[in-house]
Amino acid sequence: MYLGEPVEIKVKDLSKGFRLREGQVQALNGITLTTPTNRILTLLGPSGCGKTTLLRCIAGLEVPDSGEIQIGETTVFSSASKVFVPPNKRGISMVFQSYAIWPHMTVFDNVAYPLQVQKRPKEEIKQRVQKTLALVQLEGFEHRSATKLSGGQQQRVALARALIAEPKVVLFDEPLSNLDAKLREQTRRELRNFLSELGISAVYVTHDRIEALTISDVVAVMKDGQIVEIGKPKELYFSARNKFVVDFIGGANFLEAKVVGYLNGLVQVRSPIGTIICEESAAPEPGRCVTVYIRPEAFEIIDSPSERKYNVFRGVVERVLFAGEWYESDIRVGNSVLSVRLLPSVSVAEGEEIILHAAPARCRIVMGPKERR
Ligand code: ADP
Ligand code: MG
Repeated sequence: MYLGEPVEIKVKDLSKGFRLREGQVQALNGITLTTPTNRILTLLGPSGCGKTTLLRCIAGLEVPDSGEIQIGETTVFSSASKVFVPPNKRGISMVFQSYAIWPHMTVFDNVAYPLQVQKRPKEEIKQRVQKTLALVQLEGFEHRSATKLSGGQQQRVALARALIAEPKVVLFDEPLSNLDAKLREQTRRELRNFLSELGISAVYVTHDRIEALTISDVVAVMKDGQIVEIGKPKELYFSARNKFVVDFIGGANFLEAKVVGYLNGLVQVRSPIGTIICEESAAPEPGRCVTVYIRPEAFEIIDSPSERKYNVFRGVVERVLFAGEWYESDIRVGNSVLSVRLLPSVSVAEGEEIILHAAPARCRIVMGPKERR
C-alpha cells in the first residue's frame, strides 16, 4: 500500500501577478480553496485562467505576491509572516504535461531518480522502485528503455516517479494532453482508478471538461485568476449557478425569464418559450429577471401534451444533424431556437411539428455571485 500521508491544502486569498513589458498580468486574483484529503480536486478552466500558476505556487516553483498556503499543518507560504518553504521541503510531487521522463534512461532509473537525488542507500532504492512499479502495475519493466513503452505506460512511469518519494499531495498539470484522443480516454480511466485506490490527495489541472468530470471528486472552475464555482462533478453539471460554469462544463440553452411565483416549492417563470417550472432552492422574489438554463439532452419528445404536467413546449424541427450517439437538432419554439439532443431511436424530420418536455429538475436558474447558496 501507499505509505505517504495524505493531507489537505489550504490556500487563502492568494494573488500573483507577472510584470510584462506591456504591463501587469494578474494570473491569480484572490484564490481561496481547501483541497479534500484522499480525494482528487481538479482545477478546470480555459487556457490562461491561472491553473498552472496556482499549481506552481502550491509546489513552491512560483512565489505569490500575497496570501497564504498551508499543506497539512505546515504553512509553506505566508506573505504576512514572510514564510517560504522551498519546493523540495513541501512533501509534494508534480506530474507535468510532457511526461518529462528521460528517454535515454531505463524505467528503473527514471523512477529511482528522486531517491537518488536524496542519496538513499542502493538497497532501499531498489525495494522502493519495485514497490512503486507494482502500484502502477509495471512490475518487471525495470530494465526496459523508457522510450520502448506505450504512451499510457510512459504516463504510469511518470506517476511512479511522482509517488516514489511518498508525497503528501501529487500535483498534475494537464498530464494527458500529449496523448491522442483514444489513449487519453483509456489513460484517464486508469489514472482515476490508481489514484482513488491509492487514496492519495491530488490536485489535477485540465482545460478539458470531460477529463475533469470523470477524474475528479471535486472540481473548481477558474476564470481570470479566480475560482468561480466549486462542487462535485454531478452538482456542477446539473445545478451550477454561474453562467460561465454552466456553459464551460457542457453547453446549454439560456433563456431570459421573469419570476412569476411559486408552485409546490418550484419556481414558476415566464420565458420566451412559455411558462417554465424550475427546481430551485434559492427562491428569487416574484418580478425578478433571471436566466434559466436547460441542457440540450434534458429534453424529450412526447406524443401528447397531457402526458406531462409542466414544461410542455410545442416546436418545429428546423435542423437535424446525426452525431452518432445522438442527433443534434435545432427546434423552434415561438421566436426561440433551442438546441436539443435527441436519442438516435427518435426519428424526426426537418419541418415536423413536435412536443418537447423538460423536467423541472433540469430547468435551473443562473445566479449572480451574491445570490449563490
Ligand atoms: P493556465 O495554466 O490556466 O493556462 P497560466 O497559469 O499558465 O494559465 O497563466 C495565467 C496568466 O499568467 C496568463 O495570462 C499567462 O500568460 C500569464 N503568465 C503565466 N506565467 C507567466 C510568466 N512566467 N511570465 C509572464 N506571464 C505569465
Ligand atoms: Mg497551464
